[in-house]
Amino acid sequence: MNAVKNIRTLTLDELTEYFLSIGDKKFRAKQVWEWIWKKHARSFEDMTNLSKELRENLSKNYSFPALKHDLSQYSSDGTIKSRFKTIDGNLVEGVLIPVEDRQTACVSSQVGCSLSCKFCATGFMERKRNLTFDEIYDEAAMLNEMAEKTYGKKLSNIVFMGMGEPLLNYKNVLKAIERITAPDGLGIGARRITVSTSGISKMIRQLGDDGVKFNLALSLHAANDKKRSELMPINETNNIQSLIEALNYFYNKTKNDITFEYILFKNENDSLKDADDLIKIYRQVPCHLINVIEYNPIENADFEKPEKESTQKFMDYLAAHRVNVRLRISRGKDIDAACGQLANKDLEKVI
Ligand code: SAH
Ligand code: SF4
Repeated sequence: MNAVKNIRTLTLDELTEYFLSIGDKKFRAKQVWEWIWKKHARSFEDMTNLSKELRENLSKNYSFPALKHDLSQYSSDGTIKSRFKTIDGNLVEGVLIPVEDRQTACVSSQVGCSLSCKFCATGFMERKRNLTFDEIYDEAAMLNEMAEKTYGKKLSNIVFMGMGEPLLNYKNVLKAIERITAPDGLGIGARRITVSTSGISKMIRQLGDDGVKFNLALSLHAANDKKRSELMPINETNNIQSLIEALNYFYNKTKNDITFEYILFKNENDSLKDADDLIKIYRQVPCHLINVIEYNPIENADFEKPEKESTQKFMDYLAAHRVNVRLRISRGKDIDAACGQLANKDLEKVI
């Protein structure tokens, strides 16, 4: 068994203890900590201001299982999809989305997903494992480097809308966000981070209890239980009423922004009756925005997106009822980087 500990699971105090125990100076811990979290070293060899001897000593005592960049695809709209490889050979995807003055990173939280939503490409993959907090951090750090290199700007926003259900990898996601927001980490404000969930009521309440500072997006997609359970089996155990209650709990504890995501599926959830049901839910939750999302067709499903006119009619109806609503057109369609398409067909070939 490999008993060597991942160096990034150590606290600064633990690192300090280690250096003192090998008769080295206290400031070494700070140096290594900076390499790990601020200068984004991905191996001990990267830590060039440490002696060769010290780097060897570190690699004997600790592992550094960093995510590796595998390949990137460029969309004509500027979106860049990247594939990352974990130390054990799993592939996950992250997307950089440049829009006007924003550089948004969309990150994955799991390898695959266990929730099998009927419209989502990731849902058709099996969930292999959770990403660790340092792997999630690496995604953000690498997308940040890409933003700087390609667009000369740092990341401004992060959305957890890649592969996986973040609230089923709760601890790692929260710890990754702690490092992403930390001044000695990526230093990105929590208000610029949004975690999107398919709706796990218990964990939404937990976010409230933990007093998190980031925003929450609920993938609602249907406004009554029958329709929602058909699209998203998770609704059978986390129904709309339980989500309404959990979201109110979350809001009362945190006052953070809540958004609803609503993909429009032709003849499934796009009628004015559906809009009425959606408005009813909206009125029961301190929700600041409904993002109506254009469906991106996937191979395994035969949903369709509605015609432009019916999308507009749905939007107008909501707006006429004083709903703050916005249409989100997915980006990176030509490279399958759009929402729900992060299970690229050639993934299997590469593994
Ligand atoms: N598991 C989380 C976060 C990842 S999915 C969640 O479900 O919220 C990120 C977003 O992409 C969700 O709102 C999801 O419903 C949406 N999505 C999935 N498949 C899609 C598709 N084919 N077209 C458009 N959006 C999709
Ligand atoms: Fe998982 Fe989210 Fe896709 Fe549903 S939409 S299968 S929860 S990644």
